[in-house]
Amino acid sequence: MTNSEIKELASKYLINNYGERQIALVRGEGVYVWDADGKRYLDFVAGISTNNLGHCHPKVVSAITEQAKKLIHVSNLYLIEPQVKLAERIAELSFADKCFFCNSGAEANEAAIKLARKYSKEKFGENKFEIITMKKSFHGRTITTITATGQEKYQKGFEPLSPGFKYVNFNDMKAIEDGVTENTCAIMVEPIQVEGGINVPSDDYLPNLRKFCDNNNILLIYDEVQTAMGRTGKLFGYETFGAEPDIITMAKALGGGVPIGCMATKAHIAESLTPGSHASTFGGNPLVCSAALASINTIVEENLPENAEKMGKYLMQKLLLLKEKFPLIKEVRGRGLIVGAELNIEGKEVVNKALEKGLILNCIGTNVIRFVPPLIINNGHIDQAIDIFGDVLSEITKN
Ligand SMILES: *Cc1c(COP(=O)(O)O)cnc(C)c1O
Repeated sequence: MTNSEIKELASKYLINNYGERQIALVRGEGVYVWDADGKRYLDFVAGISTNNLGHCHPKVVSAITEQAKKLIHVSNLYLIEPQVKLAERIAELSFADKCFFCNSGAEANEAAIKLARKYSKEKFGENKFEIITMKKSFHGRTITTITATGQEKYQKGFEPLSPGFKYVNFNDMKAIEDGVTENTCAIMVEPIQVEGGINVPSDDYLPNLRKFCDNNNILLIYDEVQTAMGRTGKLFGYETFGAEPDIITMAKALGGGVPIGCMATKAHIAESLTPGSHASTFGGNPLVCSAALASINTIVEENLPENAEKMGKYLMQKLLLLKEKFPLIKEVRGRGLIVGAELNIEGKEVVNKALEKGLILNCIGTNVIRFVPPLIINNGHIDQAIDIFGDVLSEITKN
């Protein structure tokens, strides 16, 4: 099928919640993808920070195909070997002792919220249930995770929201001190706010949050759905800031492209999720856990967090040079390979023109262009992307 044939079927049969899309991607290899008409693109969206190993990495492909021949799904009524091996690997590589697996970021956050409440009520009493989240945060699209998300645009029209949430400014300890009450059970925060416009906190923010939570019997939850798996320059975003959480959630890049989410925590906190208290039919099934295990091992073996840090610095340097040339760029910010260029104009035209020229980018909100390429990129790929981005800005400046 061609792009336009696929587009026609989509407009007829798909709910329009994603809006209009110009191309269908049908094949990928490394940092490149091809559309249904055979055109090649350099992919700087990477499935929204998901394809950290690029497209169809041979180790992930082989893990999936081998597992698919053996066993795809059985439910959590039975033990699953790839699931326990993946949990062991996550425990070895992180602060966490124990894992719960689900299928998405929103579900991982739901699990974190449920665990934080159950643990805190058992330990400190029935009223200890309030959760503080940040303005401009993003935590998912279920009713409770849009409530946790401190942005009205995700909530509007879906009220009533879940009770028990309160929002404070990100990167602001005073706001935390003013916001907590004796009923606060957890503070939930992204180490770097990505969907909120790529906001990197000051270096002492997470360490200060850690101290504050310890002193006030509050659990610290990191939503690392987008930051985990090497993108910030370390395997987990929190390592970049040197402050561990009590509970972490991950999803996007965890499975190397397959849908898997994980909520991980310390053993004494995990005890509150007693048998029967939480579950997921597909969560941690053999297929996705095999893919995730291959993906995480490859990220570690190939030192991809280090490459993310190096390439991120190179990309930021190149973008800062473009900023000197084009006043259309207001600010460049980021950490590792989470990089944003805030524009003085709407980003939509930039994204569309880049696509025409073979570069896949996307825009957060109205005007922050997001650069989240696979972690396997090299300087040459970045040069190609910068050339195209520069051409687009130059065209727009002339018009
Ligand atoms: C993408 C994202 C989510 C939601 O993940 P889904 O898999 O879409 O449910 C939650 N939190 C953060 C920080 C994200 O980037």
